Amino acid sequence: MKVEFDRDTCIGMFQCVAEWDAFEKDEDAGKANLADSEETDDDVFVREVPDDAELDAKFAARSCPVDAIVVYDDDGEQLIP
Ligand code: SF4
Repeated sequence: MKVEFDRDTCIGMFQCVAEWDAFEKDEDAGKANLADSEETDDDVFVREVPDDAELDAKFAARSCPVDAIVVYDDDGEQLIP
């Protein structure tokens, strides 16, 4: 499973931070940061989701009010949102 985080879209509501600890608050920027991710495009960050964090990652994606977090399965199929 993979997660893609569109940091440009993020409005810093920090619901995701409460759901998965890979998301960290950047209070100064008013944005979340996705730990251990790679920037694949301008302000777009991607990382693998460990097996034991799959539920947390899904909850984080569901909690985001602006759909800045997208979860994909191993076949590249978009699961959430
Ligand atoms: S829930 Fe969405 S808008 Fe809020 S900090 Fe996380 S990614 Fe950004």
